[in-house]
Order: sequence, then C-alpha cells, then structure tokens
Amino acid sequence: MKIYSTMSREKEDLKTLFKDKIKLFVCGPTVYDDAHIGHGRTYISFDMIKRYLEFKGYSVFYLQNITDVDDKIINRSKERNIESSQLARKYEKRFIEDMATLNVTSVNYFARATDHMDEIIDQIQRLVDKGFAYVTETGVYFEVSKFDEFGKLSNRNIEELETHRIDIDDSKRSSNDFALWKNREGEEFAGEPVWDSPWGKGRPGWHIEDTAITEKYFGAQYDIHGGGLDLIFPHHDAEIAQIEAVSGKSPLVQYWMHTGFLNVSGEKMSKSLGNFITIRELLKEYSPETFRFFVLLTHYRSPIDFSEVSLHQAERNVSRIKNYIEALDEAIAAEYEKGNVSDNIAEILSLDESEIREELLGFNYHGTAYEAFDECVDQFFTSMDDDFSTPKAIAAIFPFIKQSNKDLEEKKVSIEDMLAVKHFFADVSEILGIDFLDYKDETSANDEALLEIIADVRAKLRAEKKYDLSDDIRDKLVQLGIEVSD
Ligand SMILES: [Zn+2]
Repeated sequence: MKIYSTMSREKEDLKTLFKDKIKLFVCGPTVYDDAHIGHGRTYISFDMIKRYLEFKGYSVFYLQNITDVDDKIINRSKERNIESSQLARKYEKRFIEDMATLNVTSVNYFARATDHMDEIIDQIQRLVDKGFAYVTETGVYFEVSKFDEFGKLSNRNIEELETHRIDIDDSKRSSNDFALWKNREGEEFAGEPVWDSPWGKGRPGWHIEDTAITEKYFGAQYDIHGGGLDLIFPHHDAEIAQIEAVSGKSPLVQYWMHTGFLNVSGEKMSKSLGNFITIRELLKEYSPETFRFFVLLTHYRSPIDFSEVSLHQAERNVSRIKNYIEALDEAIAAEYEKGNVSDNIAEILSLDESEIREELLGFNYHGTAYEAFDECVDQFFTSMDDDFSTPKAIAAIFPFIKQSNKDLEEKKVSIEDMLAVKHFFADVSEILGIDFLDYKDETSANDEALLEIIADVRAKLRAEKKYDLSDDIRDKLVQLGIEVSD
C-alpha cells in the first residue's frame, strides 16, 4: 500500500508507528457558516481513506478539530448580534448533520478548540519557556527564525516569507512570526470571547489548537495528518514548527495528505463570484450518493471541476452499477427458484437481504474462474493500493458490468461466482461509502406511494360516477408515460 506524502513529494510505502494502528488527524471546519462543496470534497476523500485503511485491516482512530473561536466567527456573530459561542454551536451542528447526510461517518472524535484551552495555554507556555516564543503587549508569538526548518512542508524559506507578510504588527520581532495567543483586553474588544492566561485575557491563534489537540490525544508524533491543499502554508508549516519545537521530536507525522481544490466551472469558488455552493443547496438537486460518486471519480489530490454535466454523469454511473446489481440479484433469484443450487446455497438465499450480506463473506472473490471479474477485482485493489486511486478503481467496474450483463443474460455465470461478485460489490459499497446493493431508492418508493394515492382517488371518483375527472387523470398519467389499468 502506497501513500503520497506532501513532505517527500513521493509515494511511500505505508508503515505505521505501532503495529496495525493508525492515528489520523484532519483539519476540521471553522464553524461560522454552512459547509460548502469544497469541504464536502475534502471530508468525503478522508472518509474514503479511512474506510479503505480499515478494509485493509488497520484500526484507525480519526480525530478532527472544530475551530469554534476565530475572527470569522466573532465578526459574523457581531453582525448577527448573538454570542459567538451560540453561532459556533449552530454551525457545528449543521456541519455534523451535513457530514452524516453525505455518509461521512468515520470521524471518531470531534475536538473543539474551546474545550482544549488548558492544553493550548500549556503548549504556548512550554514554547515560551524553551525560547521559541516571546510575549509582547499584544500577545504571544512564535519566533520563526528560531526554528531552523520552518517552511519544510511548503518548501518556502524565510527570505521568501519576508515578501509574504502574514500580518503586520509592530510589536512582533519579525513580520513572519505568527500569533499563538492574542490579547483581547480593552474597550475595543468588548463582547469578544476571552479566556484567562498567564499573558492576560485573550484567545488562541489558529495554528496552536491543532497541535494542542493532537498532542493530547496522539502524543508528539503520529501517522497521518490531512487537510486541504490550501492549508499547507502557513497552517501546516506552523503546526510542524510548534510541535517539533516543543517536543524536540521530528517528524510530527509520517505522511502529510492533502486534497486538491474544487473549482466551479473552471473558477475558484467564492462568494464574490457568485458560484459559492453549500452542501445543503447542492443536495436539493442531487442525491448524497451522486455527489460522493462525483467526488471519488477524481483522485483525491487532483483538482476537481464541479459542473452540472459531470454531476449528471456521476448520477447515471451510480444507476448503472445499481442496475447491474439488480440484474445480478434477479439472476441469483432465478437460479434459486429453478432449484439449481446446492442445499448450502439454498439455505443462504432463503435468508433476508441483511443476513445474506454476512453470508457473502464465505464467497471469496479473489482468483475466481470468472475471468472478466478477476480482472476487475485486480484492477480495483491495485488502484486503491496505489495512493487511493479511486478513479482507476472505479474505471475497472464499467467494462466488467458491460461484459457481465451479457454473461448473466446468456446464463454463463455460476451461482458461486454470482455470489462472489455480490460480495465484491458489498465491499466496494463499504469502501466508497455508497450502498450499491440498495437499488430501490427513496424516490421510486415515493413515486409508488404517490401512484397508489392517485389510483385510490380515481377509484373513488368512478364510484361516484365522475368518469370525466377519472379519465382526465388517466390521460395525463399516460402522457407522463405511466400505464394505467382500471
Ligand atoms: Zn488545522
């Protein structure tokens, strides 16, 4: 299994720090607004990554922070005239709901910055004590020139940083130095959230919450740190400086994983361009499965171009896989009804759908006699093992489906192989987080219920001899392509 690390800029063999355990941390959201489809892309990707690592037999602890104190939150709450904690809780709740809708369920623990103030203050104090940070009247700053390797993740050096002024503050020794603690005493900060610290009332800078949280739960070193590509600099370089300075240990993590950007019709998504799409808005028009599949059709490190055309394509492709599984189930049922199966298999097939899924484990899909299927399975897992290449893995499925639909029609597939195929697609569903085995989607269930209501109404109309109305409804249904038998 190979993983690309942004630090080495190479694919490396996966080596864990401790046996089959993996500690994964991914930067979480700043909760001041609804999550957008770019967040969706990042968190669907890491959800898939965790799912696949677990499929490979690793036990993964996935930790994510929630930035619930920040300038954006404070400004937004001032605009709305509410407490910043109230605003943060509201959007945190909505974020977690959005993730659940997208079937992003693999985070083991969400750690809020404000629940870790003691750890944050303690880590800052140790940085001051070790001489990596200094105190001024405006706060506490990390002195970048004291950490020789600053910028090693982004490959930027200090000279370059001089032209990239992070923020301007006369009390800092260098414009590159970044805030660990921001003092917020005085009239101009009235109403802002503050915590007591050895340096006065204030709040933490952004970068420190991550290392305070990961140090608490994972220690100074762990396996994988993830986030969006835009976080490499300065955020992740700052994290490395903080924790490696405080612990004296290097590296912070074995692998740095970054997801690519999401553009909308070729442009960066932004409120000012008017192409900003929240997950909630998107899901009014597309199913969560469609969006998930759309995301996974691109490699997690590559940029994605979001367009209606590609979403429709993803929608059709999810249906193609589901239609195939439906055909496969029908072929299995046909064999069963004809009595063409061994007693052992007959017993399994008499179970209900959820129990059959467990029994599928008994049908190994590696190295079957079904050649087209074998190639598909091989390509799927070889691609997933190659830095989670979901587009190549998914691409293996469609030629197989095309061939197999023919094979099923011509009754060329044995019942054992059919069950092995179903087992494979159950695993694919688990890995990609899309249940392809569930092809009866809600819309069609709703449609059926609706048609029953209409049939009822028509029956009542006819009973009251209101044939004109009843016929009128029938004609309109026929126009929609819906057959009506009285
Ligand atoms: Zn972060």
